[in-house]
Amino acid sequence: MPLLQNHIAVVTGAGSGIGRAIAKGYAGEGARVVLLDMNDKAAADVVSEIRDAGGKAESFALDVTKRDDCVAMATQVADKVGKVSILVNNAGIARRNGMLGAAEAVINDWEDIIAINLTGVFNVTHAFLEPLRAAKGRIVNIGSIQSFVHLRTPSSPAYTASKHGVLGFTKALAAELGKDGVRVNAIGPGFIETPLNEKMRAANPALVQVFMDHTPLGRPGKPEDIVGPAIFLASDLSAYVSGTIVMVDGGYRTI
Ligand code: NAP
Repeated sequence: MPLLQNHIAVVTGAGSGIGRAIAKGYAGEGARVVLLDMNDKAAADVVSEIRDAGGKAESFALDVTKRDDCVAMATQVADKVGKVSILVNNAGIARRNGMLGAAEAVINDWEDIIAINLTGVFNVTHAFLEPLRAAKGRIVNIGSIQSFVHLRTPSSPAYTASKHGVLGFTKALAAELGKDGVRVNAIGPGFIETPLNEKMRAANPALVQVFMDHTPLGRPGKPEDIVGPAIFLASDLSAYVSGTIVMVDGGYRTI
């Protein structure tokens, strides 16, 4: 039997990159997938791909920073799709400005990155808590190598703080919701080739090399590399796994 049969899985930021790959992977394992993205056209295109492959999916436009919209979306999904049992908090942005740049840029980075990468994770989780608790559900948060490190490669203090926060939130929630049978884990991607870093890859091959110098497996990751661990954490294969982070980084933190 497919690993996610009879599950309804919500994936945020599912129109692109890692979220897109996870949504397709979950559908391939029998889940009915609800793709939420600010870019509703991109999410709708992924829905078409999933349906063409015989899977079940729908998409809705959602900006995860808008708390009231997240609450309304949980009601809409309950009415139109059903009881959500898996949530993947994936929507996120990255910027690489340090703390010493122009004040306006530094402050904008802080506000945008924390609002999307951290408060967005809170907003969506809080909105979908009731069905997730009722279903003894599974939450998968997308952290980063920046959930642990900062200075090997340029990364804004805001991004690093947001991804440390995602890991902390994951642990706190796992501790609190374990008694309800809800499992909460994170995935820590390394350098994964997605539209998020497309411009950086083209403009700064030297920085890509720095990442590769810290990647024993010697290649950048692909969005598809995240899919197996994401299926594992959402399925019964990980029935006794909670409050942890699975690094999918080619070994980045070993050197
Ligand atoms: P991506 O290709 O840019 O995809 C992110 C998706 O999220 C996009 O469709 C984006 O829409 C959407 N989004 C952005 N802000 C949103 C919001 N406020 N509400 C709803 N959706 C929003 O990025 P990715 O590389 O797949 O990244 C996915 C996650 O993995 C992020 O949390 C990122 O921090 C994390 N991660 C990525 C890497 C990497 O190397 N790629 C490494 C570690 C962690 P738009 O296209 O309209 O902006």
